Amino acid sequence: MIPYGRQDISEDDIAAVVAILRSDWLTQGPAIERFERKVADYCGARFAVAVANATAALHIACLALGIGEGDRVWTSPNTFVASANCARYCGAQVSFVDIDPASYNLSLSELQARLETAAKNGTLPRLVIPVHFAGQSCDMSAIADLAQCYGFKVLEDASHAIGGSYLGKPIGNCDYADAAVFSFHPVKIVTSGEGGMIVTNREDLYQHLLRLRSHGITRDPLLMEGAADGDWYYQQLELGFNYRMTDLQAALGASQMERIDEFIARRRELAARYQAALAHTGLVLPAETHPGQSAWHLYAVQTPTPQMRRPLFDRLRRTGIGVNVHYIPVYLQPYYRRLGHRPGECPQAETYYQRAISLPMFPRLSDQEFESVVDIVTVAMREI
Ligand SMILES: *Cc1c(COP(=O)(O)O)cnc(C)c1O
Repeated sequence: MIPYGRQDISEDDIAAVVAILRSDWLTQGPAIERFERKVADYCGARFAVAVANATAALHIACLALGIGEGDRVWTSPNTFVASANCARYCGAQVSFVDIDPASYNLSLSELQARLETAAKNGTLPRLVIPVHFAGQSCDMSAIADLAQCYGFKVLEDASHAIGGSYLGKPIGNCDYADAAVFSFHPVKIVTSGEGGMIVTNREDLYQHLLRLRSHGITRDPLLMEGAADGDWYYQQLELGFNYRMTDLQAALGASQMERIDEFIARRRELAARYQAALAHTGLVLPAETHPGQSAWHLYAVQTPTPQMRRPLFDRLRRTGIGVNVHYIPVYLQPYYRRLGHRPGECPQAETYYQRAISLPMFPRLSDQEFESVVDIVTVAMREI
């Protein structure tokens, strides 16, 4: 089976992990800081905090941004459930802003209209979480303008997007957001096994995130209430978590960062070849509609009609192509329906979902595998 996504592990990656096994540190140690520095420098952000996974990263980022009981958080429905769950962990209420049918990202005009109404009703969000679907940046400059105007914070879910760019700068530089989050799950652009990272230019957020990652504990006497008892002393200042990443994972992630430009170049090459090879199949192909380069985490096409999606999907799976669907609109999940969400909330996201299929897209996809995917898809589109 050719999967829709998979990791690319080199001998250097393996050696980097083995070296950690022989070192003094297994959990959070010096490799964490190396990985954080690499990612922060790569993105042009000042600070980075590595954690156990991107879901944990989103959770503590929401907390550090002050999200709590009764707050409103808005995100895209066309995403993995974690983009919304992070707000629920904090007791916030989630609303979904429909997508733009061209970029599959949260629609700017929809966001603007919703904000105007919310301003009148006194229901403005405290935080908006734009998701860079498939690795293409949302229109962050426009979102930052709206944030300024309506007074909400911005947290980028850039889980798909490390290595992509926007207005000539790397995604994650946080020019237009309080913070951004990356995922290092094996299907993502760069992997650490499991792993996530928050990047930010705000020192206050950075310090707070470090604390939330490790039980809310500090060893800094300057931050303590009262005097420290001695060198052993620590204080728990708030309720944090054990969201630490291990040094094993960080070493893998840091080693992978050496090849990120190669990974992105291959993904971009494959995307360009898909665009040409599938142009006349009748499939609706993804497009780079925003000023920047997609990291091409996913290559998501749409069948011309919803009726064609299932037969195409089943046929590709039967012929050894591990296609997938990204995403079921989050609010259609039973958990979110129980909170009062209903079908029809975001019509564009539902229309897109009914026709979507993600084709194989990963750096190690060989030219031969690529050709066979194209051939099988082309024939299938003629016959179904
Ligand atoms: C993968 C993903 C996450 C969660 O990442 P984990 O590292 O698996 O927790 C969050 N948001 C989006 C958009 C994702 O694709």
